[in-house]
Amino acid sequence: MRTAALQCGFDQVGFAPAEAPLHAQEYREWLSQDFHGEMSYMGRPDAVARRVDPREALSGCRTIIVTSLVYGPQASWGGAAAIPEEHADSRGSDERSGRRLPVIARYAKGRDYHDVFETRLDQLASAIRALAPNAITKRYVDYGPVLERDHAQRAGLGWIGKNTMLIEPTLGSYFMLGELLTDLDLPPDEPFVADRCGTCDRCMVACPTDAIVAERSLDARRCISYLTIELKGSIPVDLRAAIGNRIFGCDICQEVCPWNADSPVPEHGPFGLAPGRPVPPDDMVQWSTELLALDEQRFRARYEGTALSRPGRAGLLRNLAVGLGNTGDETALPVLRRMIEDESELVREHAQWALERHRTENTGS
Ligand code: SF4
Ligand code: SF4
Repeated sequence: MRTAALQCGFDQVGFAPAEAPLHAQEYREWLSQDFHGEMSYMGRPDAVARRVDPREALSGCRTIIVTSLVYGPQASWGGAAAIPEEHADSRGSDERSGRRLPVIARYAKGRDYHDVFETRLDQLASAIRALAPNAITKRYVDYGPVLERDHAQRAGLGWIGKNTMLIEPTLGSYFMLGELLTDLDLPPDEPFVADRCGTCDRCMVACPTDAIVAERSLDARRCISYLTIELKGSIPVDLRAAIGNRIFGCDICQEVCPWNADSPVPEHGPFGLAPGRPVPPDDMVQWSTELLALDEQRFRARYEGTALSRPGRAGLLRNLAVGLGNTGDETALPVLRRMIEDESELVREHAQWALERHRTENTGS
């Protein structure tokens, strides 16, 4: 079965028993503190029940097959060209990347990883049915009610670091997870029991918004990934400056992790865009100009199948307004003035904030 899974193109495969996750109680406490923010689907009673018992997600479930795909430290848009590193070693705006460069989380520089996992997990389900015709399977890719990192640790794929990411000693943490639940009783792998974080706390110190409130406890409401991707409404004003030029997601707590210092670069990144698919401009002003010219329908056509489609046109423009407000670069002013005319109240409000930030920075008032 492991061979069949690896033949589907996964980098790691592990087998965990379909038992209650080890961190079910921590998960309940996390929800009780509202750390999930607007992601209310996570707190729904039926979703919680399924998360704390995989048999609620798939009746008769006996094994969770956990898979991973490595995107690596230099995830690309799909071509061979290397994307400049945006490693940040300071809090706030990443000056070394260029003042108008939009920073995008590595995994998002390409195809929507959900689509890639779904295709490969369907292949794996077919391979399983070829070996065991009566097997029942159900796939999940992080949107599903499965505590995936918990099961991944149980399946021996790594440990959960203080930054809440799953880390594997030779791979680091630049990989995504997908799961196939099945009623087959497959021999489980040895769990990964060691905590290799030791006394390190680099991720907690480096987080620009203090979102890692305790070891392995993340207040998503403060996390830039949540604020720029999952949050639908207005970004809290007190967190906007710390977002810097991060337009979609954030990798800081992975960039500073010593276990990512030598993480491998996959030869063929799994989320690469198909040749010829347009990539966003690597300039916040140009990107904003492009988006302002698109209506919602044309935005969908332009970004369909990419991770960047998730926040929608208004969400991306909101994020760009914050990034442009943080640049301190006067060349951002014309496009910000156009943004305050946009049809979206969300965009207008963030552009107004950005213009005000420029004004106070320049006048000191
Ligand atoms: S992704 Fe960024 S904002 Fe979120 S916890 Fe990590 S460093 Fe903090
Ligand atoms: S930066 Fe240090 S504490 Fe944080 S996840 Fe990596 S090893 Fe663990």
